[in-house]
Amino acid sequence: MEKIVLKGLTIPKLEDFVLSIGESKYRAKQLYNGLHKQNYYSFNQFTNLPQSLRNKLEEVASIPKIQLVKRLKSVDGTQKMTFDVGNEKLVEAVWIPSNRGERKTICVSSQVGCTLACAFCATGLLNFEGNLKTWQIIDQVIQIEELVGERATNIVFMGMGEPMHNYFSVVSAAHILHDPEAFDLGAKRITISTSGVIPSIERFIKNKEPFNFAISLNHPNPSTRGTIMNIDKKYPLEKLLKTAKEFTQVLKRRITFEYIMIPKVNMGKENATRLIKIAKSMDCKINLIPLNTDFNGWKRPTDEEAQKFMDLLQDANVPVMNRKSPGKDIFGACGMLSLKG
Ligand code: SAH
Ligand code: SF4
Repeated sequence: MEKIVLKGLTIPKLEDFVLSIGESKYRAKQLYNGLHKQNYYSFNQFTNLPQSLRNKLEEVASIPKIQLVKRLKSVDGTQKMTFDVGNEKLVEAVWIPSNRGERKTICVSSQVGCTLACAFCATGLLNFEGNLKTWQIIDQVIQIEELVGERATNIVFMGMGEPMHNYFSVVSAAHILHDPEAFDLGAKRITISTSGVIPSIERFIKNKEPFNFAISLNHPNPSTRGTIMNIDKKYPLEKLLKTAKEFTQVLKRRITFEYIMIPKVNMGKENATRLIKIAKSMDCKINLIPLNTDFNGWKRPTDEEAQKFMDLLQDANVPVMNRKSPGKDIFGACGMLSLKG
């Protein structure tokens, strides 16, 4: 019989488990704490449990670990870790300390590869090899914190994959990261990003999830967005914007739009005008990201080009930020995660 993986299970699920092996319900909390706060990898470390129970757990359950296979350090302080999540399936996660050091972000992957193949993203060129389980997501955080010897202050689901194609595992991981009994990170310090999977966004709204939410808009024109993002054909921009607005109205929270700046594709005056119109239609902010990859004959904008586009938005009083994705030299910046470097 295959052993049950306990890491990544919430307390109600762990309660079901302990009851199923004839133990008292309160053991669930002890297991949860050992797995997600003490970061134990062996049942022998659970010294608060009787030896007989530890032996029983050893027989029926396991605490697997994703394996570090590569660690790269950028000149700017960013680090990229490659992990084997099992069966030689590889994912990457990134440690991003801010310049002044007060913010330390871990960018986690949610899938092995990505099915969506956006025209600008290197992850989309990889074969898709499946969804990550909750434990495989939180283990990225545990192991990176251990490797760098520091705690993260922020987690972003912006690594490999489309988080909203793996809703259950991603949202469960976010809850464990948020839970004061586990990682204890504020909900506003956890950000989930999507290219626009409308049914999953609706579910997120319906469940009133407390986490920050970002939509990769990337093009403001309904007839053109689909030429760089396949997902737009299934979930078109106009419907996506309606759902985004619903998010802000139902949850009474600001939403973030990410917008890659690609010269000659989406940085014209007309694009800015449309983007401003979108920004004015709901409570949102815009994160601009200069293109980091150079396939399709596209080039990263110069600092002047990026600033010019940003000025257009700022002049219209749109809350906007230029997200200077660090870690380019180790292929660790946005859109670059493709097992290279
Ligand atoms: N699949 C999700 C989350 C991962 S991508 C999504 O697409 O939202 C995280 C961010 O990186 C997205 O906003 C995406 O638009 C951006 N990105 C992808 N490729 C990029 C590139 N080549 N340069 C800069 N940003 C990129
Ligand atoms: Fe997938 Fe996001 Fe990359 Fe598009 S940008 S291919 S959705 S990871």
